[in-house]
Amino acid sequence: MSVLRRALIAASESDALERQVTSRTLTRRIAMKFIAGETLDDGIAAVREVAARGCTATLDFLGEAVTGPDDARSAQKAILTACQRINDESLPSGLSVKPTQMGLSFDPDLAFELIGEIATEAQRFDGHVNLDMEGTDVTEATVALCERLREAGHDNVGCALQSYLHRTHADVERLTATGASLRLIKGAYDVPPSIAYQDASDVDASFERSMDWLLAHGHYPRIATHDDKLIDRAKRTAIRLGRSLDDFEFQMLYGVRTTLQDKLVAGGWRMRIYIPFGDEWYPYFMRRIAERPANMVFFLRALAGS
Ligand SMILES: Cc1cc2nc3c(=O)[nH]c(=O)nc-3n(C[C@H](O)[C@H](O)[C@H](O)COP(=O)(O)OP(=O)(O)OC[C@H]3O[C@@H](n4cnc5c(N)ncnc54)[C@H](O)[C@@H]3O)c2cc1C
Repeated sequence: MSVLRRALIAASESDALERQVTSRTLTRRIAMKFIAGETLDDGIAAVREVAARGCTATLDFLGEAVTGPDDARSAQKAILTACQRINDESLPSGLSVKPTQMGLSFDPDLAFELIGEIATEAQRFDGHVNLDMEGTDVTEATVALCERLREAGHDNVGCALQSYLHRTHADVERLTATGASLRLIKGAYDVPPSIAYQDASDVDASFERSMDWLLAHGHYPRIATHDDKLIDRAKRTAIRLGRSLDDFEFQMLYGVRTTLQDKLVAGGWRMRIYIPFGDEWYPYFMRRIAERPANMVFFLRALAGS
């Protein structure tokens, strides 16, 4: 991981920089390339827009690492309102939830209760609820939370797993044993070499191993990457294994590689778009900037000039 990338990920926790970035017109404009907008209406409009292009969606109400139960409950309320809209308007969308937004860091029982209620609500429209995977301080807690929710009968709950972690393939097998549908990703946080691959080629090799395994043994795998090489490999592997095209999906982020999204849909592949909305977009946006050198240059110029 480059020094600049590490610095930008660290900056995603800086209140001072957050004030600069969220108040400037130009940086806000760049951010809105990756975020549907600050309101639920914006999120719903983006779901309709991707649906018109033949994609499904997963809506994410932005926010993470809340520090008290009231904030967790108020975020859950916003997510339940989103569920209501998806249901009332028969939209092709599931939900993505950050466990630390539901209180996982300070009260795992509260996170279990709040996400369980979201899963029950989403069941009404057959919606999948995916637990986003966050920093390494909550990896085990998130995997255990997914297991616990599934044991409690929430069959529509799955989890994201990050190929940069050494432990991930074991987690892929562990959660597949519960029947969970898993989202495989490379990972977007700063992670120490003691527990995570640092070279892109190792992260990719780990992704390939888990992806091949999921396509052979997984329950509706969700292959979440914009990487051409991995997407081509997934297609070839699925065809070789005789996996039906409607028994797994590709996922990409809102605003990233839209042309490739359309190309996959035109080829008959399932494509789901992760759609973030809400006013707490700063840390999410900084992780998107950190992912790509071209984004970093563009962003730093805007920050200096606006
Ligand atoms: C649906 C979805 C859900 C995710 N959920 C999580 C999660 O729960 N936890 C987590 O840690 N991470 C999550 N991520 C982020 C993920 O971990 C990676 O950081 C991110 O997807 C970039 O990795 P990549 O696989 O696309 O490969 P990369 O090698 O990073 O990118 C491949 C190519 O895609 C394009 N690209 C990638 N990112 C960007 C960008 N930000 N802007 C413009 N172009 C870009 C570039 O052309 C790049 O060359 C999610 C990603 C997706 C697609």
